[in-house]
Amino acid sequence: MRFIVGLLSLICTAALADTIAIKAGAIVDPVSGSEARDQTVIIEDGIIHAVGRGLQIPQGARVVDLSGEWLVPGLIDAHNHLTLGMRYEARQPYPDPAVYITESTAHRALRGLHNAQIMLDAGFTTIRDPGYEGDYALVDVRRAIAEGFFGGPTIISGGKVIAPFGGNARHIPPERGPFWDYEYIDADSPDEVRRAVRRNLYYGATVIKLVAEADHEPGQVDYYYSVGEVRAAVEEAHRSGIAVAVHVMGGPAAQAAIDAGVDSIEHGFELTDAQLSQMKAKGIFLCGTDFPREQLVGWLDEKGAAVTSTQIIDRLRRAHKIGVRMAFGTDIWYEFPGRTRPELAFDFLAVWRSAGIGPADILRAMTSDAAELLRVNHERGRIIPGLVADIAALPTDPLNDIEALRRIDFVMQNGKIIRAR
Ligand SMILES: [Zn+2]
Repeated sequence: MRFIVGLLSLICTAALADTIAIKAGAIVDPVSGSEARDQTVIIEDGIIHAVGRGLQIPQGARVVDLSGEWLVPGLIDAHNHLTLGMRYEARQPYPDPAVYITESTAHRALRGLHNAQIMLDAGFTTIRDPGYEGDYALVDVRRAIAEGFFGGPTIISGGKVIAPFGGNARHIPPERGPFWDYEYIDADSPDEVRRAVRRNLYYGATVIKLVAEADHEPGQVDYYYSVGEVRAAVEEAHRSGIAVAVHVMGGPAAQAAIDAGVDSIEHGFELTDAQLSQMKAKGIFLCGTDFPREQLVGWLDEKGAAVTSTQIIDRLRRAHKIGVRMAFGTDIWYEFPGRTRPELAFDFLAVWRSAGIGPADILRAMTSDAAELLRVNHERGRIIPGLVADIAALPTDPLNDIEALRRIDFVMQNGKIIRAR
């Protein structure tokens, strides 16, 4: 009897196994920066089972013909604020207390889901949203996607941003109280930082985000975290297998983050060569959010945007030359008239090109390297056997011209076809 039950379950499993064979013109491997022509990818139940030339296609497999296309691993945006939609044309700043007054967490969750879906459709199969999601809006988005109510990318989210008193909220009068707690947790000692990390983990954050410096006027740092405070976050998060991302521009606050051994520096526009070298030595990623000048104009004037843009390209060029590991991240928190969020994200490619970075290195920052920072590299970031089938396809070679990523016309995520040609 046991044998018959075993046999039946074997037959059922075989019948239920969902097998897809993709015939690919070429597969690009971001780790080696090379491509293999005329490949077949066999996917079983969402997992890449085999990759190679002339593989036999299993009987009953669904065949997807992408023989005129280049396959790349699903893209990753390691810094995108999905629940935010500041009005660019109104130069609406962020954090903006009006958001908390006028938008419920439910509304922000719905916007987050919408943005996550359009990013996925464009080829971004994994997105990290490092904080600013109200009362953990993305935890519910992630849950609804996992429950199968909606499609959406893999989302890593930071919950509330942990910061020294007041964070980057500006001009809140004392009688309003700590009004910024809609986005921040005030934490002003190692013990308070530890407690804030635990609170975020409890409510479902999957990355810990610190703002290490409180600047209450643009460009003016009033106070910042000590090494001990950042280290408390690192110890507490790492114990739970979670990475720590730190928003910081440069100076002593960046030095404290580097010394404390964080996983990534976000922005870091003012990092020195010495600091970048230390990051390289320690394996700390730079997620540079390297804004195109046209998008900086939204909250800086023309002159300020030009200065910051030059600074960003210079820092990106130096980081690449020094060999700091980098993850592609955009920081998009705004709606831009006439442009979609994925179009805005692809506009960042021009900045990387301006810094003299070649297509293979850019693609690596958007796939395998970003996957490592997000701690999903054991299952995502490459098209190799054993990993989850997160795949995008496009009609021209991205190693010739990285802008070809704008033309992605096929997207598979978790082995499911999201967008077919
Ligand atoms: Zn950000």
